[in-house]
Amino acid sequence: MRYEAVIGLEVHAQLLTRTKAFCACPTTYGAPPNTQVCPVCLGLPGALPVLNGEAVRLAVRTALALSCTIRRHSRFARKNYFYPDLPKGYQISQYDEPFSDGGHLEIEVDGKTRKIGITRVHMEEDAGKSQHLGRTSVVDLNRSGVPLVEIVGEPDLRGAAEAAEYLRTLRDVLVFVGVNDGNLEEGSFRCDANVSVRPVGEAKLGTRVELKNINSFRFVEKAIDHEIVRQAGVLDAGGRVVQETRGWNEDEGKSFSMRSKEEAQDYRYFPDPDLPPLVLDESFVHEVRARMPELPRAKRQRFAGEMGLSAYAAQVLTGHPRVAAFFEEAAALHGNPTRVANFVQSEVLRDVHTRGLVAEIPVSAAQVASLLKLVDRGTISGKQAKEVYGKLVGTDRSPEDVVASVGMQQVTDAGAIEAICARLIESSPKQAADLRAGKTNLLGFFVGQVMKETKGSANPQLVNEALKKLLGLPG
Ligand code: ADP
Ligand code: MG
Ligand code: ZN
Repeated sequence: MRYEAVIGLEVHAQLLTRTKAFCACPTTYGAPPNTQVCPVCLGLPGALPVLNGEAVRLAVRTALALSCTIRRHSRFARKNYFYPDLPKGYQISQYDEPFSDGGHLEIEVDGKTRKIGITRVHMEEDAGKSQHLGRTSVVDLNRSGVPLVEIVGEPDLRGAAEAAEYLRTLRDVLVFVGVNDGNLEEGSFRCDANVSVRPVGEAKLGTRVELKNINSFRFVEKAIDHEIVRQAGVLDAGGRVVQETRGWNEDEGKSFSMRSKEEAQDYRYFPDPDLPPLVLDESFVHEVRARMPELPRAKRQRFAGEMGLSAYAAQVLTGHPRVAAFFEEAAALHGNPTRVANFVQSEVLRDVHTRGLVAEIPVSAAQVASLLKLVDRGTISGKQAKEVYGKLVGTDRSPEDVVASVGMQQVTDAGAIEAICARLIESSPKQAADLRAGKTNLLGFFVGQVMKETKGSANPQLVNEALKKLLGLPG
């Protein structure tokens, strides 16, 4: 490849407030169209915006999680454009005075850590949603005025895979600090990708193309890759890349030109006269910083370091904040994080359903901890624990109760186990002889027979000992 790709992402993330950025309308997703609106978010004449304090708090938390500097003074500006889903004729945003800038995000690519610059994080309001149904178009203004942060990344990314990793890491951070639900499909986390190419060794950036609203992680990589190849083709043919905005057509697997790129002056930005400057005092910022939830990377390092999990287990168990919290609670109650991690990964995760920030986990951490304690005490075997788990799912019964009600017990009577082993050795004389002659893998055959006979309730260690003793094998 004679060209190097340069990518910078702009991400819009809805803040998880109960009400909108400048009015008291609810932000609940999926309500019937135009039922969550008022004069402010409908843009009726004379209505005045009032800034939502919780939105500011979450925006500042976002910026701090990305190591940005918080500016004491910032200002809201009007970004003027006409569109049916924007009833005021302008969007309230921040322009030359954003509330934060100069941060970074660390990502892992091929086992190496890369630091990607964050140009700025600013607050703005979302627009409504147009829908085109054949020859009619309708608009739903429920989303109009929902608070957003826009996170503008530096053009530090060098390939589609790296861009996708940045996006995944960024989403993880926002979800773990509880400011956004990370839902690309519902559009609460949206990405525009700016892509350019330049000859390898060239310092000057090439002309960029903006790819709009890529709504899944699968498409991010594909759309960027496709754009890199397209631009390289244009340059190879002696042409010039045109600065424009392109959309991505997933069905055809290609991008299409939407419009020539608008410039800042096209928006006639000016300070919003209805809103005073935003002043963030030291103590407010300090308080937001003090209450910052643990970042996913730190959590992963703690699970692998302090708690002794494998890197893989730490990765899996930090896949979702609720799953991580569930695991931590169970590990604290039980006392052995690795044992709890193994059980959660092999049994519980299969039944977990996540949607946005919600995770449905069909058992409690306390149930899992007591279940594993029953195994530790030798009351039931590991195999029986899986059976008991199946009966706990969706109930609030205690594992002790389930074990008692089904009369489950681990057979730990060495004499009884020996008697069963003796009987089985007698009924399979050929296998017994082969095993004595050195076919050691036949030991598994006998263990399996004993387990079958006892429905998995025999203590595996005692079974092994009894078989070896009866067959005269080394212990
Ligand atoms: P706008 O808001 O008009 O898109 P910005 O100056 O805010 O303009 O830039 C937006 C994004 O474009 C940033 O994420 C930045 O990293 C990226 N970007 C700027 N120039 C280039 C370039 N030549 N190639 C790739 N990305 C670029
Ligand atoms: Mg842009
Ligand atoms: Zn409203």
